[in-house]
Amino acid sequence: MLMKLTFIGAAHEVTGSCHMLQAAGKTILVDYGMEQGPDLFENPGLPLPENEVDYVLLTHAHIDHSGLLPLLVKKGFKGQIITTYATADLCNIMLRDSAHIQEFEAEWRNRKGKRAGQQAFEPLYVVQDALDAIEKLVPCQYNERIRICDGIEVRFTDVGHLLGSASIEVWITEGAVEKKIVFSGDVGNLNQPIIKNPHYTESADYVVVESTYGNRVHSTEPVDYVQELVKVLRETFDRKGNVVIPSFAVGRTQEVLYFIREIKEKNLLKEYPNFEVYLDSPLAIEATKVFTKNMKECFDEEALALINAGINPLVFPGLHASVTSDDSKMINQIEKPKVIVSASGMCDAGRIRHHLKHNLWRAESTILFVGYQAEGTLGRRILDGEKHVKIFGEPIEVHARIENLHGVSGHADMNGLLAWLEGFKTPLEQVFVVHGDDTVAEEFAATVQERLGYPAWAPFPDGEVDLAANEILSEGVRIPVKTKKAAAQKADAAFDRLIAAGRRLMEVVYKCGQISNKDKAKFEKQIHNLADKWDIYK
Ligand SMILES: [Zn+2]
Repeated sequence: MLMKLTFIGAAHEVTGSCHMLQAAGKTILVDYGMEQGPDLFENPGLPLPENEVDYVLLTHAHIDHSGLLPLLVKKGFKGQIITTYATADLCNIMLRDSAHIQEFEAEWRNRKGKRAGQQAFEPLYVVQDALDAIEKLVPCQYNERIRICDGIEVRFTDVGHLLGSASIEVWITEGAVEKKIVFSGDVGNLNQPIIKNPHYTESADYVVVESTYGNRVHSTEPVDYVQELVKVLRETFDRKGNVVIPSFAVGRTQEVLYFIREIKEKNLLKEYPNFEVYLDSPLAIEATKVFTKNMKECFDEEALALINAGINPLVFPGLHASVTSDDSKMINQIEKPKVIVSASGMCDAGRIRHHLKHNLWRAESTILFVGYQAEGTLGRRILDGEKHVKIFGEPIEVHARIENLHGVSGHADMNGLLAWLEGFKTPLEQVFVVHGDDTVAEEFAATVQERLGYPAWAPFPDGEVDLAANEILSEGVRIPVKTKKAAAQKADAAFDRLIAAGRRLMEVVYKCGQISNKDKAKFEKQIHNLADKWDIYK
């Protein structure tokens, strides 16, 4: 019987995570994420109809791991999406939010497109699809080994990357063959606030490991986050300005609240003990509730100690949650210096833009960045020192102070990833390296081979491996992303058909195991002739 792993997404890339496991007569996806940011290679997509997928195992709620689940359901997936309780809770808000963004973007494009006489643009999925996907979530406890069907058992363990994040162990039994494969998910960093350190898994035959920072080592210089934050608050309040913090709604915002609670409790800002904090992001408010709901299972020792003492580590006097847009508008009418935490974290969307509009021009205010700002975003431009920006089409001069306070990264660095791999007590047959930029994935595979002595391989999209035989069936395909101009669309469609034809050829090859050796050789020669004829990069 077939025991095969196919790398669908985040192969030689960081986003769009998806791996397909076919074993025990079932087809299982591990993650089904959306591609975000700059894209290097085309992902050919699922090689079978969505209704032939039986289960999804979800490592965590970040959209680059979960964002296509509503599309999967829209296209006919009928099975269960198995994940941890906290991830299910976070998906409940994040998938709905993602659907809103899809609908909003389609609406915007259609408004523009109509004027240009273009065809209507369909959103990738709508809110109802997200709700349908949310209904298929089946939560489970950490560390509980569960049998999902004949021949397949799974266990989720805390990998310390985001609330609810997990590595997933999968035990496969087919007749006399038993194999265990572990999917790392995104491996967390040590000593992040609130959440636990990554748990190490002890046994596996195969491991699929991420490599986001597979060639980097995080700085070990200790940063006193709380003291740095106190300094920015004091200096800004002294100038009678506001501190505006653009923050990712899930994760980073809760860290900021956690630190501000500590500042208030220990009275570290004596001159302004009663300063007010406005949390102005409906998504962040919802996410904070999910953190609070899952405290007992997911928080680290320090945060749990507070809970056991009857303290909610994310709540403090002077914290205001702005749910409605009227609440949001009110904030800018309050003159007293204050802290405003709002999303999106890179300033490209959401309510943060209103607060930037009201504060960027004021020399007394501070814009405090607390997370990564990608190339090309408004946040990055402000951080890089641009003096004139446009918000809602209005030119704004930048006079506010710009500060950058990097928290602890959510991802393990090279040493953290190697330590996680060294946690395995049994030798691994092979390590598959995914979720890293093109060269980083290759570099980390080489590092694993060199430092740990395990065979390691970084597949391209559509790469395949036979797990029963430990044999690579296909290296995958390396299709550089094309710029999607209108004139290129016909070429795209023709290319898609060519890829489909290529897939059909592989299917025929798989069926030829039983034909005579003479015929096998003949077929092989024909394929080589065909490939030689078209291989223009030979
Ligand atoms: Zn992640």
